[in-house]
Amino acid sequence: MYKKLFILLCFISSLSTNAFAEPSVQPKVTYHKIQNSSLNEEELKKHLGKEDPRRLPSLVALGMVSLREDKPKQADIYFKQALSEMPPTVLNKLYEFECYEGLAVSATRRLQYTEGKRYFQKAFQLTPYLPPITHPMVSELYGYYGQSLLETGYLDEARTIIQQSLKLDSTCKICHHAEQYLQLDLNSPDYFDVQGDEIIRWADDKTVINVFIEDGSTLKDWNPDYIQLAKKALMTWQTTSNNRFRFQMVSQPEQSDVTIHWSLNTMVENGETVIGLAHQEVTGEYISNKDIYICLHDNPNEIMNTNLMYSTLLHEVGHMLGISEHSPNPADVMSPVSGRQVVTGRDIATLMRIYETEANYVNPPGISVTEYRQQIALPDLQNQQ
Ligand SMILES: [Zn+2]
Repeated sequence: MYKKLFILLCFISSLSTNAFAEPSVQPKVTYHKIQNSSLNEEELKKHLGKEDPRRLPSLVALGMVSLREDKPKQADIYFKQALSEMPPTVLNKLYEFECYEGLAVSATRRLQYTEGKRYFQKAFQLTPYLPPITHPMVSELYGYYGQSLLETGYLDEARTIIQQSLKLDSTCKICHHAEQYLQLDLNSPDYFDVQGDEIIRWADDKTVINVFIEDGSTLKDWNPDYIQLAKKALMTWQTTSNNRFRFQMVSQPEQSDVTIHWSLNTMVENGETVIGLAHQEVTGEYISNKDIYICLHDNPNEIMNTNLMYSTLLHEVGHMLGISEHSPNPADVMSPVSGRQVVTGRDIATLMRIYETEANYVNPPGISVTEYRQQIALPDLQNQQ
């Protein structure tokens, strides 16, 4: 899958709630209370009067709520407004931190990584002012940030952020995980080693794969060129793998091994917003059927850029062929970094090693495509307009 990079929002909201705590109150107690009651949009909007003493925390919380509802641009307006009104006192540092944090998350969700980095750095400069009780959370948050930097190829920055996070809280799990990742050799001939213990692939004699590409013309902003784009992604894998796989287009979904579906908007998998997904069915030890889902809009009402869609297609086709885990090298099409346009030698070498290895996947409890669509929050096509 290609995820839309963003830090777990539930986490941020819980940090945000601390902003409401009076300095003398035990934050742990207040967390809960405020989390459940005050992050309500209507309630928060009542406190936006110019003289209202809760105007500032309400603006910050409204930014958080907007992020939670996947409205990054709206969130930016609230955070920037809050920053412009913020008196420069130490008491406000937590609000200020949250605004920069929120702006950083918003930027990464809009795939504006450079802008995101700038805001994350501003937020990080504020951590010395934050109460120690927030350190484990801040540290974990920066662990996620470090990981997102890793995934977008900013390795040196990632290293610095992860080390700083560990200084705040040496037990931060995600930081340790990211550290291990940094030690991987990014220039090895392939990244087979990160594929884990389970090899899920097509049978050896399955070299011709029948593909049905759905017609998305009932979807808003559909462009018939997307069909060509999908074919181009398939052909790229076919030629770079030296015809190890050949793709044959079929006109009926029943004749297909693989179906490429279009989703109006982003999807959700394991709590993460994603722009592309690949889901497989396994019969016996081998893949018997695969569904690829690509979204047309990566933000509400914003059409996905064609280059990004192509790279998403290339990436999901790689998953479809059996590369289940991501490459740690941001240059590879199978890295979780979106935007890659070229299938690299490492991508192909990894694929070839997968097919030199016995499939050893144990058939999971079956899940139907309908159930899967529900799971990824993808409505039925007819309801998508
Ligand atoms: Zn992926």
